[in-house]
Formats: sequence, structure tokens, C-alpha cells
Amino acid sequence: MTEIKSNSENIIEVNDLVKIYKQGNVKAVDKIFFNVKKGEIFALLGPNGAGKTTIISVLATLLFLTEGKAIVNGYDVAKYPDKVRKSIGVVFQEPSLDGELTGRENLEFHTILYSMAKKIRTERIEEVLELVDLKDKQKTYTKNYSGGMKRRLEIARGLLHYPNVLFLDEPTLGLDPQTRRKIWEKIKELNKEQQITILLTTHYMEEADELADRICIIDHGKIIALDTAESLKSKLAKDVLAVELENVSNFNELKIKIEQLENIEQVKVVSESDQSQDMVEIIQNRLKKMGGPMANVSPEMIRQKMRKGMAEAMKDPVKFVKNLGKMPGSFEMFKYIPYESKKGIADNIEDNVLELLPEEIKAELIQIKKGVIPSKLSQDNILKINIACESGAKSITQVVQLINEMGIDIKSINMRSPTLEDVFLFYTGAKIRDEDSNRVKGIKEFIKMRKLRK
Ligand code: ATP
Repeated sequence: MTEIKSNSENIIEVNDLVKIYKQGNVKAVDKIFFNVKKGEIFALLGPNGAGKTTIISVLATLLFLTEGKAIVNGYDVAKYPDKVRKSIGVVFQEPSLDGELTGRENLEFHTILYSMAKKIRTERIEEVLELVDLKDKQKTYTKNYSGGMKRRLEIARGLLHYPNVLFLDEPTLGLDPQTRRKIWEKIKELNKEQQITILLTTHYMEEADELADRICIIDHGKIIALDTAESLKSKLAKDVLAVELENVSNFNELKIKIEQLENIEQVKVVSESDQSQDMVEIIQNRLKKMGGPMANVSPEMIRQKMRKGMAEAMKDPVKFVKNLGKMPGSFEMFKYIPYESKKGIADNIEDNVLELLPEEIKAELIQIKKGVIPSKLSQDNILKINIACESGAKSITQVVQLINEMGIDIKSINMRSPTLEDVFLFYTGAKIRDEDSNRVKGIKEFIKMRKLRK
């Protein structure tokens, strides 16, 4: 007997889901619950390692859950994995096409693997090729496909057995902006015209913003916010004042000073802007100058590589320093390493390695070794902060006045609407205040309580 879900409006129901990887004892998903409505595009948005792929893998029955319950298309994933599998399509982050086969052969192989009746095979392959606009490339070996074509073929493969739900894990990872837009259009089309519910994971804000009816922000395996993009933004603030501060030298002192801005009536939150954007531009320009195949690498690809690279690098900071300079932009990257890691490097680096480093980095590490806490500022001592407030026009005078009273110079100030990035930075911790400050704890508690009340 199959189990039919309680609420037929929901095509996915996740309750108190926990996933612990025995290897390393990692709690990748920690008691999360959410529902996806039939016909929705639902995005799981979170940084690398947040737990997005794990959630998709559990829902697609590729991983066993540790605790809790998940229902997909009316079937409990733990009890009826075969039924779930037959009703879903999955496209994973890692490419899985056989380059030695043509596009069509890749699809044929899949239909045979999944024992699709021969009669419907040919017709369905035609249909899905049509859906992803690859009919004219069906006889080309997939090793000769572009990144976007490969992704489209993988989506086509996920659609072969008429799924009601399509899981897309980072569907546009590493693609250039134009190709990404094309994939977005396809995803929207599949959702609207084929009535396929889509659950996708992404760490691109603009992707979630553009595609998703609702966005679930995940960090450290927990849901920290869930709503429509508009609502997430408007709940944060009406306006954001983006301020560039200059000639500041002591980050710790500055941090305390800047927190005072939150005392201004109507100012909701002050966060440090993501300066890795500057870094991305530096690397991109450098790659452009180098020319060749790397010249057109997208900013998202660079960001992705940076995140992964940085996470790897931080596992062995001294090795990272030894390898500095081997990839474009790696010296600049050093600027963005958190103080704690720099301290780890300073305390452990051997003198002969230190000598090999550029003067600036060497000097900084020597200072840290002596116990000096450096500023967390960019080279030209500019710190960009974002001030979320109810009315930028009303708060601006007080903001400027208070900053002046603090003796800090303002380089520029702009008013803009909040973006999903502001929401994300606010919830996931790229903020000036500490992650575990009472206020953040309070907000998280509030979100939890509100969810409990629903
Ligand atoms: P990304 O965007 O990098 O894919 P993600 O949000 O999808 O990240 P997951 O891949 O789900 O995150 O990983 C969540 C956590 O579980 C991470 O800490 C990761 O290191 C860990 N993890 C993932 N797979 C395994 C595994 N097979 N064994 C042990 N730990 C794992």
C-alpha cells in the first residue's frame, strides 16, 4: 500500500529531517522542515557546504535519511524509494554524460537503463530534445557540446520518464551569464508549460531571485529564512544605504563604532559588504589580459572556485601560503582570509617560507605574529558597509552625522533597494557583529517560533 500525503497541495513535505554522515560524523542537515507546493519553483539557497545537495540527495532517494520524514509525490522516501524515483527527475551538479556518445545516444542509454518501453522511447526522446532545443545537435558527440548544451541535455535526460518533480542541483554552475539566462528560460518554460514542480539548489542570489516562487535560505544544515524573494527583502528593510568609509585603520575599533549606527532610529542592521566582489573583478581582469580559453570565465565560476579553493586552502593554511602566486589573483586573495586563519599561518609558517612571500604579506604576518590585529580592510583602507533602514532619506542625515562624530571619513554614500544578497549576508553572517551575538540568536529564535506557530 502506498502512503498518500496529508496535504495534496504539497508535492514535497519535509519534516524534521536530519542527515548525519557517519564518515566524519557530519550533521549535514539538522531538523529541517519545509513544504513545496505543486507547480512551484522552490530554491534552496546557501553557501558551499550548507547542506543543499544532501537534501536533494535524500529527497531523490540517493541517500538514506538519519531521522525525520520526507514525502515526495505522495510517497515516503524511506519506505517507497522506487516509487519516488519513478516520479522524479534529477540533474546533479557533477556532469554525468558520456562524452563518447552522441546526445541522442546518451538519452537512449538512459531509457534502456530505466527499462522504458521501446514503443514510447523514440517518441519521448524526440519530445525532450525538442523541449531543450537540442534536436539539431542530437547526433553530435557530447564531448563536443558547450557547457550550456550539456546542462540542457542533462535536463532532457531528467525529463525522459515524465516526472512531476524535477530536482536541479546547481543547474547553472560555472556557466557564462548568457547561457545561464537560456537555462533559466528553459526552467521557467518547463515549470509553466509542462507543469513540472522544480526544486533547485543554488548559491547564486540572482538565480534564486529570478526563478524561485519561494526561497529557503540554508546555512550549516538549518533553515534560517523561508519566503518569497520580495518578502525576504521587504522584511529586511525598505532602503539600504551603501557607505564607503575611507582612511580607517583599526578594524576592531571600527567594528565597535559602527555598531552604534544601529542605535539610530529606523536603522535595522549594519553589515559589511561582500568585498570578495572586488576580488572577482581583479581575477577576471587578469584572466582577460592573459587571453586564451580562460578569458571568458564567468564571475560566478571564479566565485565558486574561490569559495572551494579558500575552503580547501584553510584546511592547510601554510601549504596555501606556499602555493600563493601559482594562480592568478592569489596574492589579492590573501587579503580576504579571516584573521583567525592568518594567525594560524603566522604562528606556523617557517621563516624560509616567509622570506619567499611578497613584502606586504610578509610584513602583515610578522605584525600578526607580534600580536597586532590588522585591519580587515582593502588595500586602500576602504571599508564598505550596508545600512538597512526603514527610510534611507530620513536616516541619511543622522548616519552621516554619527560617522563624522566617530572621526571616520565617508568616501561615498548611495541609497538603493535591498537585494537578496543583503538578506543573505544578514542571515548567514557576513556581518560586522559576531555570528553568535544575542541579537542574531534572537532573530533565529524568532524565525523558529514563527515557523512553529504556522
Ligand atoms: P555545495 O554547494 O558545495 O555543493 P551543499 O550546500 O550542497 O554545498 P553538501 O554537499 O550537502 O552542501 O554538504 C553539507 C555538509 O556535509 C558539508 O559539511 C560536507 O562537507 C558534508 N558532506 C557532504 N557529503 C559528505 C559525505 N559523503 N561524507 C561526509 N560528509 C559529507
